[in-house]
Amino acid sequence: MLDFSIGLRPLLNDYALRQLARLGIHTVGDVLGYFPRGYQDRRNIPRISQVTGSGVQLVTGMVEAVTEEVVKNRVSILKCRIRDVSGAIELVFFNQSFLKPVLKVGLQLVAAGKVEVNSYTGSRQLMVSELDIIRSEADRRMALGVIVPIYPLSQGLYQSRVRGIILEVIEKVVGQVDDHLPLWVRDKLNLMPLSDALKELHLPTSPHLCTAARQRIVFDEFLRFQMALVEKRQVRSRETTDIRFVSTHCLLDRYMESLTYRLTADQTAAISDVVGDVISGRAMNRLIQGDVGSGKTDVIAAALLLAIGSGFQAALMVPTEVLAEQHFRRFSDQFSELGVNVVLVKGGQRSRERKAAIARMASGEPMVAIGTHALIEVPVVLPNLGLVVVDEQHRFGVMQRMKLNQKSMTPHCLFTTATPIPRSFMLTVFGDLDKTIIRELPPGRRPPQTVFFPLNAIGKVWELCRGQLSAGHQVYIVYPLVEESEKMDLASAMDGYVGVCQEFPSISVGLVHGRLPSVEKNNIMARFKSGEIKVLVATTVIEVGIDVPNATVMVIVNSERFGLSQLHQLRGRVGRGAARSYCILLGKAKTEVAQRRMDAMVQISDGFQLAELDLKLRGPGELLGTRQSGLPNFKMADLVQDQSLLSLAHRTAMRIFERDSELTRIENAGLARWYRSATPFTVETRLN
Ligand code: ADP
Ligand code: MG
Repeated sequence: MLDFSIGLRPLLNDYALRQLARLGIHTVGDVLGYFPRGYQDRRNIPRISQVTGSGVQLVTGMVEAVTEEVVKNRVSILKCRIRDVSGAIELVFFNQSFLKPVLKVGLQLVAAGKVEVNSYTGSRQLMVSELDIIRSEADRRMALGVIVPIYPLSQGLYQSRVRGIILEVIEKVVGQVDDHLPLWVRDKLNLMPLSDALKELHLPTSPHLCTAARQRIVFDEFLRFQMALVEKRQVRSRETTDIRFVSTHCLLDRYMESLTYRLTADQTAAISDVVGDVISGRAMNRLIQGDVGSGKTDVIAAALLLAIGSGFQAALMVPTEVLAEQHFRRFSDQFSELGVNVVLVKGGQRSRERKAAIARMASGEPMVAIGTHALIEVPVVLPNLGLVVVDEQHRFGVMQRMKLNQKSMTPHCLFTTATPIPRSFMLTVFGDLDKTIIRELPPGRRPPQTVFFPLNAIGKVWELCRGQLSAGHQVYIVYPLVEESEKMDLASAMDGYVGVCQEFPSISVGLVHGRLPSVEKNNIMARFKSGEIKVLVATTVIEVGIDVPNATVMVIVNSERFGLSQLHQLRGRVGRGAARSYCILLGKAKTEVAQRRMDAMVQISDGFQLAELDLKLRGPGELLGTRQSGLPNFKMADLVQDQSLLSLAHRTAMRIFERDSELTRIENAGLARWYRSATPFTVETRLN
């Protein structure tokens, strides 16, 4: 069996070792797992005379002349003419003076890059993006007439040389690589044996086999991830907890009675799922998924009351301070009649206030503690914690979720999300949770009517707003704010605010953005909620969870800059009451994809459909909560393109643990070793 952690010293000379060290490659495993970033098919390289002026081209020929020009600003341009039997072409290198002494006349080169044709002279230049220098017969065998791997390199390293070194190692060791997958898995799924796959990836023989090799590695990556999730779930289902809630006290009933509406059947069903979990003697781990406005807050309330009624403390974690504040107000209000204490923990809180809150929590008295991730980060002690609720879970990410779980003994955990998660992801990314879906919206809701307007049609938008305002309704106007262009975005939100004030001189307009001190932010939100402020100009701080049913218009400026799921979230801020509501997308769709996104928003009101589309158009990172989606950064796998392999891996992981829950069977020895230790071919996806 091959030990991946052994060094390369016995296999390579010092020079080669140094070259690889520059790429962070030190062990046999590092080499095998240093996958090419692409391939070049050099089985038929066209003659130089056949090279035309479009796209990336591949040429080969002998160096005829080399010249260097230094143009202004220290930019140097190196030009190298190469020739084959059919003609010559000029290769151009920017800022690569170090190549000058290397490109000796008579050497054969293979170069790839964009070709530009001078329209006056007809002469052609190739802007080199990849270069191979053929110095020996061995180089030639590796560089011509074959498909060559292109490795990610750092400055000053050559493809041909690194390729040569890597292949040298691969050829020596790849035969000794054991396959960790049990035969039944490999056979059933028709997967390429591991050593063949590794060999094919570094030394491809055909595009077809290379694809199969890639699939094998992708499957392995997914399988590890899925095994981690399935195992976690399995462990949990066996775990018992001493935290057992009683469902018979009257808090819940009294809460229901206090509501001015009747819960929908789906809300009621979700609450019974929760009740079932918390009295079971096993820790609850449930995800409640329901579109924006489906009334998840009442399910959360029920869970909180069950905890309090049973004498425990409960924590409610939310992604933004604005939402924390809203929940705090809502629950303090609703729960005060029930005699339930609610405290708020947040950044920017005066230290006396905060200390008092923390002291109360530390006393262990039953209460609801609400906060952003401050709740897990500051030394907040809830000695009697029986329930953790994470609202808008998709904003937190999988890995963060795990961290929270481990904070206390085994409290019951409830997660909610409004991001409709496509089925394949439900199965997989959230594979460790039980799920409840709320499909039904409260009765009488009509989806907001969505329209797209070009920026210059803003007059029409104001007209519509004016109509709604005079009918007593309220309006949101949202500006994009992304970190990369925060300053400019903030400026345009401010400008927008001034413009709105001018447009509606007799109406009270508020502005909120993330940079405001939270006291001010909360003040404005409260005044909007109470109806004192009629028009709220905002950046995306209001994206999740905000609930002001009297607002009927959502104007989204530069809507093309938002993702579909985000737009859907924003749209969900209106249409929360019985009145007709509107979502106005104001912007310009510069690209075809942008246009498709806008069309989709106008036509589709179903969150699931939008999520599937968003996944296709933008990828999972965006869908499952911006950058910190918390998904593993797979080495080779692509969560969108490789979805079918993902569900295969999921099913396989289930089968594996069904047959052998502890991975102790002899046929799984290799698998267990692979699963429990670091491997060079897959990212770390173990969950604790
Ligand atoms: P979300 O699922 O997006 O968190 P909320 O819990 O904020 O939704 O509920 C949206 C709005 O609908 C709130 O104003 C809430 O009071 C109201 N609501 C919730 N359930 C019902 C119901 N069964 N009937 C009528 N209105 C409801
Ligand atoms: Mg909500």
